[in-house]
Amino acid sequence: MDQNGRTTIDIIVPCYNEEQNIDAFYHAVREVEASMEHCDFSYYFVDDGSTDGTLDRIRDLGVHYISFSRNFGKEAAMYAGLKASTESRGGLGADYSVIIDADLQHPPQLIREMLQVIRETGCDSCAARRVSRKGEPRIRSFFARSFYRIMNRFCDIEIVDGAVDFRMMSRRMVKAVVSMPETQRFSKGIFAWVGFDTRWIEFENVQRASGESHWSMWGLTKYAITGFLDFAETPLKVTGVFGGIVSAGSVIYLIVELLKTLILGKDVPGYESLICLLLLFGGLIVALLSVIGEYIGRMYMETKNRPIFIAKESNLPPRENTAGTVDPIPEKESSIEERSHQ
Ligand code: UDP
Ligand code: MG
Repeated sequence: MDQNGRTTIDIIVPCYNEEQNIDAFYHAVREVEASMEHCDFSYYFVDDGSTDGTLDRIRDLGVHYISFSRNFGKEAAMYAGLKASTESRGGLGADYSVIIDADLQHPPQLIREMLQVIRETGCDSCAARRVSRKGEPRIRSFFARSFYRIMNRFCDIEIVDGAVDFRMMSRRMVKAVVSMPETQRFSKGIFAWVGFDTRWIEFENVQRASGESHWSMWGLTKYAITGFLDFAETPLKVTGVFGGIVSAGSVIYLIVELLKTLILGKDVPGYESLICLLLLFGGLIVALLSVIGEYIGRMYMETKNRPIFIAKESNLPPRENTAGTVDPIPEKESSIEERSHQ
């Protein structure tokens, strides 16, 4: 709450080529704001390198905004918005931050309900979940469902089917999310990983107000793989286990062949022992590679130390100028600063 006892809520809106939707979206959320007593909304629009008039529309609204130097993806945009929210009000942040899509697929009136649920239950987060996938291509629904099943089977975290990136979070949860420094982000996993109590509210799928989804099947597939690898070590373990099984099998085979020779006095033809050795070393190499691969993979991503996004323009106060690239700081220093924030 601020000094006047009002609840502060930051609305974070990732936008990529949403020129047609920005105005309608903003007015819809303003209406919700007007209907909520003792609440003050602040808006953080993140222009994710749009190539249409999105940034002009955002500027016209007179809200906070960050504009990326190129399209970094919705994950980066959400991160930038959440980070700006934690740094707002002199580093105090807002009581609650809400992430919401600009295309009106996330009904803004749910913000009211989310606050109500959080207040009633004392939880840290209230998120929305689609109960239908009406209007979505069948093949996409099928892959999405399979993805959730695989994720939940193999990862330590639980991802709710139909969960969308529309949620309200408490200050401390937002801080936790922003403190996760990974560049290849998968927010649904991160929200689950940081813990805290989350309640779900359900809504019917809504069609986009205007324009088309920015996700191609290939884009979604890559995103799904990132999500899986971010939170599952299963593939590496499976490779290790596979190597182990092959090695063990070849040892058994070798013993059987040796016994055959000793007991039955059968000659061991050269090719059998050769196959045994080949399998043994092949298996061992695969097992070893998977272990080394795990270390190298982690070090590779870590040593790059790339910022999650680069802003080319923003109207946030200087200390909120995230990514540092708006300030005239040498590039190296700016990324170090970015890291030390996280
Ligand atoms: N978005 C973004 N960067 C991107 C793609 C999408 O900021 O690279 C924004 C987009 O403007 C919208 C939200 O993320 O506000 C959801 O995108 P979209 O509607 O394309 O996804 P879908 O609803 O189909 O999952
Ligand atoms: Mg959408």
